[in-house]
Amino acid sequence: MLSSVRERTTRTLDSVAPVLLWLRAELRLDDNPALAGALGSGRPVLPVFVLDDLAPGHWAPGGAARWWLHHSLTALAADLAARGASLVLRRGETSREIPHLVAEAGAIEVHAGHPTEPWARHQMEALGRDLAGQGVRLVLHRTRALFDPDTVLTGTGGRFSVFTPFARACHARGLVEPPCPVPARIPSPPPPPSDRLADWGLTPYAPDWAGGLAATWRPGEAGARAALGAFLDGNLVAYDRRRDVPGAAGTSRLSPHLAWGEISPRRVWLAAIAAGPGKGQVGFLNELLWREFSQYLLHHHPHLPEAPLRAEFDRFPWRDDPAGLRAWQRGCTGIPLVDAGMRELWQTGWMHNRVRMITASYLVKHLLISWREGAAWFWDTLVDADLGSNSASWQWVAGCGADAAPYFRVFNPVLQGQKFDQDGAYVRRFVPELARLPDRFLHAPWDAPEPVLAAARVRLGATYPRPVVLPAAGRERALAAFQSLDRSAE
Ligand SMILES: Cc1cc2nc3c(=O)[nH]c(=O)nc-3n(C[C@H](O)[C@H](O)[C@H](O)COP(=O)(O)OP(=O)(O)OC[C@H]3O[C@@H](n4cnc5c(N)ncnc54)[C@H](O)[C@@H]3O)c2cc1C
Repeated sequence: MLSSVRERTTRTLDSVAPVLLWLRAELRLDDNPALAGALGSGRPVLPVFVLDDLAPGHWAPGGAARWWLHHSLTALAADLAARGASLVLRRGETSREIPHLVAEAGAIEVHAGHPTEPWARHQMEALGRDLAGQGVRLVLHRTRALFDPDTVLTGTGGRFSVFTPFARACHARGLVEPPCPVPARIPSPPPPPSDRLADWGLTPYAPDWAGGLAATWRPGEAGARAALGAFLDGNLVAYDRRRDVPGAAGTSRLSPHLAWGEISPRRVWLAAIAAGPGKGQVGFLNELLWREFSQYLLHHHPHLPEAPLRAEFDRFPWRDDPAGLRAWQRGCTGIPLVDAGMRELWQTGWMHNRVRMITASYLVKHLLISWREGAAWFWDTLVDADLGSNSASWQWVAGCGADAAPYFRVFNPVLQGQKFDQDGAYVRRFVPELARLPDRFLHAPWDAPEPVLAAARVRLGATYPRPVVLPAAGRERALAAFQSLDRSAE
């Protein structure tokens, strides 16, 4: 194998050996430093994507993310074709497929984005060594983060574990490098054989549960640009006031585009700066930095997806409650705001940030079910599933992460609903069986007198579930469990 790569490489060098552009989660042409690096070699560029989802033991894309990936790759292949390049698809172990592709194409360099996932980092290091042994250079570029996580350090050279000083340090550095433009053409060699995307079976059938996703999203770079444009034109100015209202659609909905790298965080950041100063802009940049902080945490704490950052949480008395977990997953807990969020997630592959916090809090605090169960469900159902943001956010809600909410902060889903979904638009949309209830009882139907329920055609326990755990009782139980953790540490 080694010698065949060398032979082939030597043969093709004479006729301008190509470089491989290995796309992973930077599925775009605009501001893609890996693409710019490949083009900068002056050689023909062969774009490839490897679906490495067969080996157990790492976080392969979940169901909703696979649906997204299918459509994103379709869009990317068309964009590449319009510039003269073919996207080559392969499925299998990265450690085999990339060297195969290098050999087949006679490539002398591989350009790729820095991986953020811990398993992908190990994979990349091993691959870099293998390729070097074959005389092929693996060149990594920063494609997914604003900053190199190894260079954002405290005044004493340590790592940040609290968000606010981290964000301050990022602001102080600023973005210096300009975005790389979309190339007009991508000189490309004749491509080796490619898998057919349709054969990968990334989209669901029997049943096809993705109708709501298709109605909600436009995966691909053009969709990402459109989402950014719409947000800048409409919602950025009022972002600080409307971002917490789930019924208002006041956020950018860029998260799946950012997760798959259909738009660069740098492009989004600079566009928000160019839109002009204001409270909306400050708040929005702050959220982009939460994304950055999550990636930073994953980089420095590779066990973030599995292990609590606060080690004492290993002893936390999580309950084994399959029925409670199922009720939560299906949006049948009997708590309207929680159910609305879980149904939004199921129907659209996305959930509003505030409602993510409330649904997550209900699972880990009211139901006392481990954050790992919740993170796994989100991983499977979110189109924007991102290992850093998902793991860091779940640990934050559970109280075991960096800069986490204190354990006694237990979101009350009724008060949260009354505050952030005052007119009930969100709950009525996703829990239509409660739509006729007056606002006063919408977020706590168990408090409604029988005639009010009857007039709204609600029968608790029949047309809508009774609460699995009532907010006050759940809060008491959660506080007791968290205090037992404190006592066991004494
Ligand atoms: C339990 C839980 C799990 C989550 N899992 C994910 C996940 O898997 N993937 C993911 O992208 N986000 C996750 N988030 C963060 C956040 O909810 C989403 O990023 C946000 O709702 C996306 O909507 P938007 O694009 O309209 O965000 P906007 O409000 O428009 O914010 C702009 C961008 O900033 C980033 N961002 C915003 N809020 C956060 C945050 N709190 N943490 C990290 N980044 C943020 C996102 O990339 C987002 O697209 C999670 C939050 C919680 C509480």
